[in-house]
Amino acid sequence: MRQLNIVFALLRYFDVDENSMLLHQLAYTNSEFNKLKNSLVEIRTNNESLEQSWILSRKEKLPGKIPNCSGCKTKSILPGDLHIYVKGKIVLKNNIQKDATFRFCPDSKCLKNIPTWGNLKPFTCAFVDLKGKISENVISKISSEGIKIQIKFV
Ligand SMILES: [Zn+2]
Repeated sequence: MRQLNIVFALLRYFDVDENSMLLHQLAYTNSEFNKLKNSLVEIRTNNESLEQSWILSRKEKLPGKIPNCSGCKTKSILPGDLHIYVKGKIVLKNNIQKDATFRFCPDSKCLKNIPTWGNLKPFTCAFVDLKGKISENVISKISSEGIKIQIKFV
């Protein structure tokens, strides 16, 4: 299944010819992967579909308080940590909404425990932030733990 997803991503997003040998390989060398990344075609997505994309990424260094996971609410997500974030809204009393970024440990238990005081829809899959230099090994480890991952330019 994972391989099918990769083949799909190669055809759909990386402009790889459908007769290419790359599609028949199960693993890629770094230089092949970089070639693919360079041939990446930017996908135009409208704001609506971007709105609740869950993104597997490394936490950037940002000013302010260090966030806790919105699922388990105990683990701090430090700069450089692998995490899954989604942009949504906090719904306050009297229905006032505020933009917010929800961050989760890459753990299916945390992802199932989404806050009820926001507008988040249940987690289905995460897209990989290709700028986050997340290795194929890390991606397969996370997907083997039951988190659905898709490769897409974000
Ligand atoms: Zn957590």
